[in-house]
Amino acid sequence: MQESDVSFTNVETPPQCPICQSGRIETRNYGKKTGRTIGTAAGAAAGVAGVVSGAEVGAAAGVVAGPVGVAIGSIFGAIIGGLVGAAAGSSVGANLGKVVDDTILENYHCLDCDYSFGKSSI
Ligand SMILES: [Zn+2]
Repeated sequence: MQESDVSFTNVETPPQCPICQSGRIETRNYGKKTGRTIGTAAGAAAGVAGVVSGAEVGAAAGVVAGPVGVAIGSIFGAIIGGLVGAAAGSSVGANLGKVVDDTILENYHCLDCDYSFGKSSI
């Protein structure tokens, strides 16, 4: 049992530089930032599509209640479709970007020797 290591297990600390062993590592998170931006834009676009399909679904559901039901159903469907699209896009994009950071990009940069490296290369 190595109980002295327990306190470090839940802390996400940047790794050491594989070249100079420096602990002064910056995290770039390019993928996460880009992913969130793209995700929000894509989500907003999907939200627009959601507005249309939401309105259609709402209108269809409102048919049983007559013309007034169709109108109200369209409005609620459009609002819900738009909100869900934008929120989901932002969160999905950020998560996707984090995966890209962790697996594909050289997400870490050594401030001492200027070496860039990824999680997989440690
Ligand atoms: Zn270094």
